[in-house]
Amino acid sequence: MNDATESKGMELSSVFAAASARAGLWRHLNAMARAWAGAAGAGSRSSELHGKTGRLLRAISRFEYCWAYPGQRLLESIRAAHESGDAATFSRLVQKVSGALLSGDYRQHESAWQAGAEGEASLLDVLPPDTDGGPLARPYFEVLFVTPGDPSGWQRSADDMRRMRRSDDQFVYSPVHVGSFEDAALATMLNTTLQAVVIIDGFGYETAHDIPDLEAFLDRHVEVDRDSIEPGKLATTLASALKQVRPELDIYLLSDRAPELLAGSDEVAPIRRLFHHIEEPMEIHLSLLDGVKDRYETPYFDNLKKYALRPIGTFHALPIARGKSVFSSNWIRDMGQFYGTNILFAESSATTGGLDSLLEPTGTIKRAQEATARAFGAKRAYFGTNGTSTSNKIVVQAVCKPGDIVIVDRNCHKSHHYGFVLSGAQPYYVEAFPLTQYSMYGAVPLRTIKHALLQCQAEGKLDRVKVIDMTNCTFDGHMYNPRRVMEECLAIKPDLVFLWDEAWFGFARFSALHRRRTAMGAAADLTRRYRSKKYREEYAKWRAENNDGKLDGKDASLLDKRLMPDPDKVRIRVYQTNSTHKSMSAFRQGSMMLVWDEDFHHVEGPFEEAFFAHTSTSPNLQLIASLDLARRQMELEGYELTLQMTDLALRIRQAINTHPLISKYFHVATPEDMIPAEFRESGIKDYGGSEGNWDEIVEAWNNDEFALDPTRLTLVCGAAGFDGTQFKGMLAERFDIQINKTSRNSILVQTNINNTHSDAALLIKALADLSREIESRLSQEDANGKAVFDARVKSLMTDVPDLPNFSRFNDSFRDNPKSGSNEGHMRPAFFMAYDENNCEFVKLHSAEVDKRLADGPEMVSANFVIPYPPGFPIMVPGQVITADTIAYMRKLDVKEIHGYHSAQGIKCLKPSTLAESKASSTH
Ligand SMILES: *Cc1c(COP(=O)(O)O)cnc(C)c1O
Repeated sequence: MNDATESKGMELSSVFAAASARAGLWRHLNAMARAWAGAAGAGSRSSELHGKTGRLLRAISRFEYCWAYPGQRLLESIRAAHESGDAATFSRLVQKVSGALLSGDYRQHESAWQAGAEGEASLLDVLPPDTDGGPLARPYFEVLFVTPGDPSGWQRSADDMRRMRRSDDQFVYSPVHVGSFEDAALATMLNTTLQAVVIIDGFGYETAHDIPDLEAFLDRHVEVDRDSIEPGKLATTLASALKQVRPELDIYLLSDRAPELLAGSDEVAPIRRLFHHIEEPMEIHLSLLDGVKDRYETPYFDNLKKYALRPIGTFHALPIARGKSVFSSNWIRDMGQFYGTNILFAESSATTGGLDSLLEPTGTIKRAQEATARAFGAKRAYFGTNGTSTSNKIVVQAVCKPGDIVIVDRNCHKSHHYGFVLSGAQPYYVEAFPLTQYSMYGAVPLRTIKHALLQCQAEGKLDRVKVIDMTNCTFDGHMYNPRRVMEECLAIKPDLVFLWDEAWFGFARFSALHRRRTAMGAAADLTRRYRSKKYREEYAKWRAENNDGKLDGKDASLLDKRLMPDPDKVRIRVYQTNSTHKSMSAFRQGSMMLVWDEDFHHVEGPFEEAFFAHTSTSPNLQLIASLDLARRQMELEGYELTLQMTDLALRIRQAINTHPLISKYFHVATPEDMIPAEFRESGIKDYGGSEGNWDEIVEAWNNDEFALDPTRLTLVCGAAGFDGTQFKGMLAERFDIQINKTSRNSILVQTNINNTHSDAALLIKALADLSREIESRLSQEDANGKAVFDARVKSLMTDVPDLPNFSRFNDSFRDNPKSGSNEGHMRPAFFMAYDENNCEFVKLHSAEVDKRLADGPEMVSANFVIPYPPGFPIMVPGQVITADTIAYMRKLDVKEIHGYHSAQGIKCLKPSTLAESKASSTH
């Protein structure tokens, strides 16, 4: 780190930069302190190092007040050692702090907090031993106290709080004190170990610290209009502001105002508990622990552990339960060795003993689902044990019946399309914008969705449109603006149901940046918005200017006009599904269905039926337990983990795209590459690393039609002469790097809550090695060899096949073939193919295909054809096969195409069968 980056560490550009800079700065200070101590010890001149360490210490100290550790006392000792020129003590203390921060040692050992030499035992150290095989160390967290008191008393008050620790407390915490609204907001964002905030009425707004960029920083990250805070409401305004950033935190308020008067008002809704000023400190201490316990508790997992330890004779149908058929076996004892005893002891087919039933939960599963709803900001949550593939079918079947129309992204995961077959709903396919250069699709523009709705209105069938079904974010990271999409659609039909498939995006709830782009975040925002007086006024004005709110489906100008729903009619009806196993710590197939539906009382019965239809009567217990645990983790450390994964992604993006050698052959697609300008109103082009252009980023994420999730990195490898599949194989074989999605000329790299800086280093090293190899190979090639390479790159990067749009359903599957909307009866088409006599096969590379494209009769697909990648159907049952589709199929170079076998050919419905079915349906 040079002096320039040193001073950058002092800037408060983003939460990511500030939070991740901290550990780096301490490490850097440690290195310099050692150098200074070394020079001083050797008697050489060290005034330069003395100056440098001093400047760096000041830079670091700027934000240290946000954390309990190392705290004022240790910092004072460090400063004092510096001032007195005692390089040895300075170096020892800096090393102690830097080491403790890195190892997390301070969470367990009281000695880390003392300026004295290492290893000193302390009376305050009441922690159980943390040795192998011993009890687990108690979880540690920090509590923020926002207080009007005099800072000189804070250290004593912190010591008093620490003295309240008891050996049978379940957790340990340390207090952090700040004295203003601004400081509290900053600490809440930066200090990821905070689990609770105690707000003591009477503090002021402005920070007393010298942080010139703080105001701009807070403007970016918290929505508070400073000038409109009503007198006496600073504390409750702060509580709401902090909840916006970290909804999981427990907030307590100590006030002189009569708690019984305050308690009933909306103002204190975000507050967990109100205290009167003179309350017993012990009461607060116990409340703090109790609040964290609520999130720590995993009702199902906790009970399963207890169950596993009980001596039980089993006579139910599950031979492996308690390992009985395994450990005594001659032949499968290694099963027991490999999986361990616990997993077998925790197996049961009983629903007694507190194990509850997923199909009819009344006990621990019910409580685990309620905790999940709370954590993810939903009204209800259901666990799915067969992946989001099944969760999607459950939701589709719960909200649709035969004949209902679903406006759906054709690129949705195949589970949605199968859901329509099952439920008899008619898909109205809408198209995402194409990204032909990467051979992939983006997401569906709002204008396209509105067009579909208005068309249905114009044709008098809006009442049949039940659901809007979209993938958020897409595989490649396109995030919708669900607030905006739902608002404008609800203006056209106020009771629409939205299904947001957030298979990849479950983590997003816990990231303050991502949350605004989630289904549940948007449901909460819109609910608040439509209840507000401000919205009513805005709406009244809009209505007066827009034909008294009556929209005419034929009026094309509505497509480009911002539409507003009537607050008296609008219903918030949002469903989200997420593959918990894809972004959180759940076992494979662990999935959640989240519900925010004001009319759920109408859906509950069908939802239960759909759940029964698709859920095994022997759901996997370990899977349910892992969902419970994934929720616990996210509710307690999701903020920290999502911050880290986002920061890491931003760093990888920047490292690759600015590396002089790597960037010649590889490139991570930027928002500008991935989102056409018309959907990127802010004009944002890139995320400049973790110290990036945050004003622009926040503006883009708040308002742009689409934004790009930085944690999903499309790494373009075509310019290195590799296609996606080849490159994926190479990374796996040579570098032990696993990824799962590829396109023709790119692979998808995702950062996750488990990724570390070493993972990032591994990837970047691999790319650097490969770039050097290509460079050296090309330098040895003659002109011919270079031409071959260039031709390969050109074929990968520019001659990419056009992606085919959904064509249309064959007329026999349409109610009205003249209709402008494309919905059709997919279910009868699907079942028509069950009779082999109705089907014929046409070879892809045959003259017959070309002839039928030119002269008919129309070829109509008998089933789903789904190439992997990209993984969405290019043909659905009943769909007319066009020249585009054939051209795409012929160019397609992937091996796995579900629903198509090249030896047989394309499975079509016979023209004669179609003619008959048409004749019979018109009768
Ligand atoms: C993976 C995925 C699914 C299916 O989820 P599983 O948990 O694998 O069954 C559904 N939708 C999308 C968008 C996905 O990416």
